[in-house]
Order: sequence, then C-alpha cells, then structure tokens
Amino acid sequence: MEVVLKNLTKKFPGRDKKNPVEVIAVNNFDFTIPDGKLVGLLGPSGCGKSTTLNLISGLEKPTSGQIFFGDDDVTKLPPENRGIGLVFQNYALYPHLTVRQNILFPLENLKGKEKLSKQVMEEKALEAARLVQIEELMERRPSELSGGQQQRVAIARALVKMPKVLLLDEPLSNLDARLRLQTREEIRRIQNETKITTIFVTHDQEEAMSICDLMIVMKAGVVHQIGKPQDIYDDPKNLFVAKFLGTPAINVFEGEVKSGKLYIGDDCIMDAPGVKDGKVYTGIRPEGFKLNETGCLKLKLSRVEVMGRDVSIIGTKEESLNDNIRAIISSDNLVDTRKDTVAFDLNPKKVFVFDYETEERIRF
Ligand code: ADP
Ligand code: MG
Repeated sequence: MEVVLKNLTKKFPGRDKKNPVEVIAVNNFDFTIPDGKLVGLLGPSGCGKSTTLNLISGLEKPTSGQIFFGDDDVTKLPPENRGIGLVFQNYALYPHLTVRQNILFPLENLKGKEKLSKQVMEEKALEAARLVQIEELMERRPSELSGGQQQRVAIARALVKMPKVLLLDEPLSNLDARLRLQTREEIRRIQNETKITTIFVTHDQEEAMSICDLMIVMKAGVVHQIGKPQDIYDDPKNLFVAKFLGTPAINVFEGEVKSGKLYIGDDCIMDAPGVKDGKVYTGIRPEGFKLNETGCLKLKLSRVEVMGRDVSIIGTKEESLNDNIRAIISSDNLVDTRKDTVAFDLNPKKVFVFDYETEERIRF
C-alpha cells in the first residue's frame, strides 16, 4: 500500500505556560512512501519522527494536510479502520496473557462480518508466530521472554491482521547491541517475505542505512533529504545530512574558495570551478584520504589506530570543526608515526563543499 502525505503539518501548543512557544513537529510533509518498501524515518531525537508515525496511524490528528493510503483519503479515519500494525520501542505486551493470547488479541477484537472462527484465528496467530520464529514460545508469558523475544511477539501481534502498513517506532532501542543487529535483519527478512509497506523510525543512521530501501532524513520537523541510503551518503544535500550519516563521521573544515580553487588553511585541496570566492564548509569522508607524502592536505599527526583491515589516522588541523580528524586507509599502507605531519591526496567524490551561511551543498 502506497502512503502519500500531502502538505501534512502538526503543531503542538507550547508546554511552557509562561512562554508558550508553538512546536511545529511536522512541517509541511509532502512525499510518497512507495508500496511494498521498507522506508526509514531518520533523524535526531525530537525531530518529529514519532509524530509523523502517529499521524499515519491516526493516533494524532494533523493540524492541516492529508494522508492517503493508495487512493483513499484516510485523514479522518480512526486508527482501527486504517489497516495498520504498530510496534513501539517498549514492547507493550499484556503481561498477564501468554504469547499466543497476546498475538490473538487483535483478532479477538474483530467485530461483525470481520469476526473470525476460533480455528482461523489460531491459524493466523501461528502463521504470524512462525514469521517471527517464536512458535515454540506460544505458552510463555512476556516475563519469561528475553527482550528480543518480546519484541518479536510485538511484531507478530502487529502482523497478525496482515496490515496494509506496518509502523515501527524505534523497535530496537530497548535491545542490547547484538540483539539489535539480529532483530534488524529479522525485520528486513519479514518485510521481504510479506512485502508489507513498512515505515521504520530510528535515530540511528547505521540502523536505517543497513536495512532501508529508502530513507527520509529529517530535522526539527523538516524533511531534509529522501533517497536510497547509499545515494544520500554519496550525495548529501546539505551539511546536516552529510554529518548525520556515516560512522566514523565526516570530517568538516572551514575552507575558502579563491579564484576557483578550494583551500583549507594554506592547503589548496582541489579546483572549484565556477564557485564564487568566499568562506565555505568542506566535508571529507574518512575513506576519502589517500596517503601521499606530497599530497595536498596536511594534518598534524596525533596517532594511528590499527583495526585489522583498516588503519585510522587521527590528526588535527586548525580549520577542523571536529576535535579529531579521522582518515581511514587500508592497512597495507605504512604510516611513519615518528613524523609530526601527514599528507594526503583526496578522492574528489568524497569531498563536499557547503555554503557557509545556508549550509546547503555547493555543486561544481
Ligand atoms: P521524535 O520521535 O523524532 O523524537 P516527536 O515526534 O516525539 O520526536 O516530537 C517532535 C516534537 O514535538 C518535539 O519537540 C516534542 O517535544 C513535540 N511534541 C511531541 N508530542 C507532543 C505533545 N503531545 N505535546 C506537545 N509537544 C509535543
Ligand atoms: Mg520518537
């Protein structure tokens, strides 16, 4: 099911009684979530991800704008009539019910002509349990399950009615690191198998990058970029997006364009044809550095970290906005750690220039 947001806005009244400043949690969202894809809503805490999800589910009413599921305007439809499945960060299982009963719950609430026979309900519950691989745990109670298992039950419960749209709000946040990795792969597999349009909310860029078909990167209620994870990483629209994606993070420098050349301090690092003179921000991805004694960019060498396949060269430079600049090179390269400075050539595809005022990308 395709989900279309049309000029969707949600404002909240200010919480501070003395100085009530309205919060625009979702500011004029206008995009389409394609059918059958796993789409990530990615951004820092407080940027409006949950609000967006709550608008799509119907738990919140928009201040203005519309939501369509396919051709149907669902803006005024209550959540129970939208055909959605919801999973939250805290699994929110009924503690006194078994796994089976928890998964059956949404089916038992069906009324009128939607009502199912006991046998059909049991079959559907078992099918959902199989999908998330918890069919052996059906008679346990939530307290007898690990966090990862509880989250699987919550996903099974959301899937049991075969929703048109599955909405996951930071579903992995309560899991430890290993389970987080495993469960995100599970979500990817389940989505591949069911082909249910899935919207996955996270503040963790690595999580979103690793499993999403499409990412919507947002900040402070505003969508900044929509695209395939790799495309956004390779071609960020602005400084915020460039900084938000990638571990280790992009290295950002104050730079300057003079007569079509880009400088960081005294180092002329590349041509910038057609870019007007003035201050800019320059971002260099950690993998964009190539060791070369006569290279264009010189850093003060702090230390070298060997990490098996790769070597991280940590350095500093006056113009750097990061305390440490991190260059990642293959471990085949030898770094003379006795030297004070280290020089690099740069892969131009890994260097991005941004306007100093607007922080928008300058392309050349
Ligand atoms: P996220 O899920 O990305 O962390 P939220 O969607 O929860 O962000 O919140 C977005 C913004 O809206 C925040 O500034 C938050 O404080 C505000 N907000 C969310 N819900 C309410 C509410 N019920 N009343 C007032 N402000 C709210
Ligand atoms: Mg949230």
